[in-house]
Amino acid sequence: MAERIVVIGGGYAGLAFIGEARHIPDSQIVLIDPGDGHELIPELPEALRMHDPIEEHVVQFHDVLEGTGVEHCKERVVDIRMDAREVRLSSGEARSFDWLLVSPGSVSAYPPIPGLQERSLPLRNAHDAFKIKERLRENPHQRVVVVGGGLTGVEVAGILAPDHDVWLIEGAPRLLPALGIGLAHYARSRLQVAGVKVIMGQKLERVEENTLKLQRDEIHYDVLIWAGGIQAPRWLRDTDLPLDDRGYPVVDSTGRIGERVFAAGDVWRVWVGHQEVPQTAQLASMAGDYVAESMTRAIRGEPLPAPFQPRLRGMLISLDPGIGVGWVIRGGIPVRGSSARTLKNLSFQQYRLKLSRAFGRGWPF
Ligand SMILES: Cc1cc2nc3c(=O)[nH]c(=O)nc-3n(C[C@H](O)[C@H](O)[C@H](O)COP(=O)(O)OP(=O)(O)OC[C@H]3O[C@@H](n4cnc5c(N)ncnc54)[C@H](O)[C@@H]3O)c2cc1C
Repeated sequence: MAERIVVIGGGYAGLAFIGEARHIPDSQIVLIDPGDGHELIPELPEALRMHDPIEEHVVQFHDVLEGTGVEHCKERVVDIRMDAREVRLSSGEARSFDWLLVSPGSVSAYPPIPGLQERSLPLRNAHDAFKIKERLRENPHQRVVVVGGGLTGVEVAGILAPDHDVWLIEGAPRLLPALGIGLAHYARSRLQVAGVKVIMGQKLERVEENTLKLQRDEIHYDVLIWAGGIQAPRWLRDTDLPLDDRGYPVVDSTGRIGERVFAAGDVWRVWVGHQEVPQTAQLASMAGDYVAESMTRAIRGEPLPAPFQPRLRGMLISLDPGIGVGWVIRGGIPVRGSSARTLKNLSFQQYRLKLSRAFGRGWPF
């Protein structure tokens, strides 16, 4: 009997995994994902620009999986029963598995700030990007306030700056904690040159209709974008997966949650020494490749590979117009300006190439 491998989520981790695991002999892979395609999420901030269609940043599952024998089940998983070896779907149906990959990504985290969740727009997927773009299209002169000065918030503020009145709010006294202080200063000064009003060191206390109340100031907004952090999907709490104090699955260093259940992507909190590795598409894709190897060995009854030790190639963000900031190569060589932007665009192309190779396509998606 063929081994039935179920994959929850066709994002960066899920597709990297399937690209490798599809070569396991006598296996049948089912991808469960409620969407039509693989969303190239790191490209979405750029897709917020007026003339950049969001559809161009989604690769249809049909185009990736056609001819591979992998089934796409267009459903949402709502529960996992490790003991019964089945996942339950929002339709009420259950799917059984011999082996399971849990890779549903993450969702926006909302601190208990009155009015925040109801009045702000997140940017986590293509649907969110559509909604933001629709709101921006209503009137280009609206004031857009982005809350959260991390990688996503800075990138969104920079990209919207040429076309809108943009404000960026960060509670900490600096932007971009994931980058060095010099790069963060550079990003801030470029944002300011592009016209973004940056407010740092004031926590958001309350969101009212069209008004943000900070610790000391009040700011008018028309469109509010929340880029304040991520958390594990809430539905994982209803499953029988072991979870940590933040609601993430407890995963060992080989990607395993249980004997036949593995995780990859944003839901796997990866540590190198005492340092948690930031959740990125790059990490998710590497974890997907790695876990395919782990699961293959487990299926064959072989010892699992050495613990996952991701070696990130860099971290780059766009800051319009035509510039970027970040670091490349292990050890972290800082890059800024147009070279950073070129490298970032190159990384998008490299990813598309990786995907097309993994699925035996002759052209980059
Ligand atoms: C705006 C933004 C910009 C970013 N920029 C960068 C960047 O420049 N570089 C970088 O490396 N990282 C970036 N990231 C982070 C990166 O996008 C994520 O770390 C990465 O997508 C995680 O991959 P994943 O496979 O875990 O989840 P995802 O890629 O999010 O995929 C999850 C998949 O699971 C599916 N799914 C969700 N719930 C269910 C369910 N219940 N049942 C079935 N399927 C489900 C979803 O439909 C989706 O297809 C950015 C993130 C955001 C939001």
